[in-house]
Amino acid sequence: MFVAVGLVSLLIIGGLLFWQPGVKSTRDDPPIAPDVATIKVELSPTERAYLDALGPITVAPDPDWIPYERIDEQGKFVGIAADMFDLLAERLDVEFAYVITRDWDQAIELSKAGEVSILPFLNQTPAREAWLIFTEPLLIDPNVFITREEHPFIFDATQLSDTTLVLPSGTSVEERVRRDFPNLMVVTVPSENAVFQAVSNRQADLTLRSLTIAAYTIRKEGLFNLKIAGQAPESYVNRLRIGVLKDERMLRDILDKGIATITPREREAIINRHVNITIVQPFDYGLLLRIAGILAVLAGIWFYWSMRIRTINASLRESERSKALLIANLPGVAYRCRFDHNWTMEFVSEGCLKLTGYPSEALLYNRKVAYNDLINPEDRAWIWERWQAASEQRTSVQLEYRLITADQREKWIFEQGAFVYDDAGQIQAIEGLLIDITDRKQAEEEVYRVSIHDDLTGIYNRRYIFDRLQTLMKEYERNCRDFAVVLIDLDFFKTVNDTYGHQGGDFVLQQFAQLLSSSCRPYDLVGRYGGEEFIVIALNLDHEAMGCLMKRVRERLDEHTFVFEGQRITVTFSAGIAASSEAGVGFSIETLISQADKRLYDAKELGRDRII
Ligand code: GH3
Ligand code: MG
Ligand code: MG
Repeated sequence: MFVAVGLVSLLIIGGLLFWQPGVKSTRDDPPIAPDVATIKVELSPTERAYLDALGPITVAPDPDWIPYERIDEQGKFVGIAADMFDLLAERLDVEFAYVITRDWDQAIELSKAGEVSILPFLNQTPAREAWLIFTEPLLIDPNVFITREEHPFIFDATQLSDTTLVLPSGTSVEERVRRDFPNLMVVTVPSENAVFQAVSNRQADLTLRSLTIAAYTIRKEGLFNLKIAGQAPESYVNRLRIGVLKDERMLRDILDKGIATITPREREAIINRHVNITIVQPFDYGLLLRIAGILAVLAGIWFYWSMRIRTINASLRESERSKALLIANLPGVAYRCRFDHNWTMEFVSEGCLKLTGYPSEALLYNRKVAYNDLINPEDRAWIWERWQAASEQRTSVQLEYRLITADQREKWIFEQGAFVYDDAGQIQAIEGLLIDITDRKQAEEEVYRVSIHDDLTGIYNRRYIFDRLQTLMKEYERNCRDFAVVLIDLDFFKTVNDTYGHQGGDFVLQQFAQLLSSSCRPYDLVGRYGGEEFIVIALNLDHEAMGCLMKRVRERLDEHTFVFEGQRITVTFSAGIAASSEAGVGFSIETLISQADKRLYDAKELGRDRII
């Protein structure tokens, strides 16, 4: 019996040592085996210049928070966070300067005073958001209930009665525990270690601590009458992030690029390195049994996690298969990304290459390029603001914006996306669809172009000219920006039609429109006013100058011969000019046009072929 239990324990211990608790993503951990020595994050020249100007990045760790972080006897920064920072330093090619503090409170003070750029490892809370912004989590660590050995397994902590729960004072968890478990009596002690001692010494029945810290402390302190008796609800999961001073947004984005390269397998190796401490004890079978018991519960929890994910994976696999088929045949790109400033892609479907010119792998985890870098710089800020607003209102998002492809072409994109939330209602990611709408945009532009031009002559139509007149009128009222208008009417045009046919008339109208346009300045507005009537609006011109312009048109018309089906056609025009500079009381578009019209009528009356 004894031997059998010993064997089982050894199996469990062995199993735990080789256990790979890597939480399997349903999609895509980076498929390339991570190579610590060679992964380098490519930063933009702007980011490099920013880092050069910043110098070594100052960091104030908690000097005593094992196994997460600690300053050792040689003054060196060690622990889980320290190992992750070493990875970041290497991959981002940056230098961290660690500032040694007395305690965590002093680290917080230095950070609040802006004397250090970052706090390396902490949960995001509303209070901390007052002066910090946060990266994506470096580590996700569940909270667990710790009891003495004799306590039964805790399935639902809200059902416990006559139970005291001990916590270190001043933690963010305390308030939530009091709210969520009003049935428990909460007591506090000064330090992390004292918490475990209190449970071990029967001063309290249980505590609620992070799995990593619990595993470490129980083993390190030899508190073998303790066990992990159950898991706290999802909302108690610790998401340990880097806190960056609010003004250093670019630093936060750079760190995120580095964090995106840390794989679940690497995290796991780091945790194991710090939690699996060796215990040297005189050989004691009873002790071995108790260790095995604790490890078995630990393994049980990991096993439960892993099985749960595996079950979900299995049921997802079938829907994944049909989804994959659907995604491969989409007219665009399906994606899943983080809600960060790079829009770090965790999944991008194959259509990516066709849409952006970059293969999906290049975008995954910002390996070659971040999605944000593909967005037209003019569109980046407002897109971020729209998502920000949607996150507050918990709505989905539809956007149209421009991307710059790998070969520097501009493409219009329609994006439809929505947030994915975890059980605790926290944003986990964004999932959505990108569709190329460049053709539609071009068609829209063409429709607009057609809608403002005259079919026959290709110059602006009357409606557009009047729209512009309204705008010019407002500018004139605001800034006294002068402009002049001329109405032009071809003389005896009915005769042209009668002599050369309607087509001959059309031909003359087209040729005249061209001659008129090419005589004006590029920023003058030339349009067809009606039948054989034209209008020109010229900015910053008075009567005289407009008169000179029209004389030039008349000279060019004299020199020009219209040849239609071998026949020469001569035409003349009459014109009436009015200018904003003659504006008086009651000046309006109508008075201006009717002034020009009256002068055109006078020109006709006086014998045509003249400009008034
Ligand atoms: P006036 O010197 O007094 O302006 O004489 P007019 O013959 O030019 O004036 P009127 O208004 O009597 O005739 C204008 C003519 O222009 C009549 C109409 O058939 C012709 N017209 C109007 N629009 C078009 C068009 O799009 N194509 C052609 N070919 N003719 C047009
Ligand atoms: Mg006419
Ligand atoms: Mg006419």
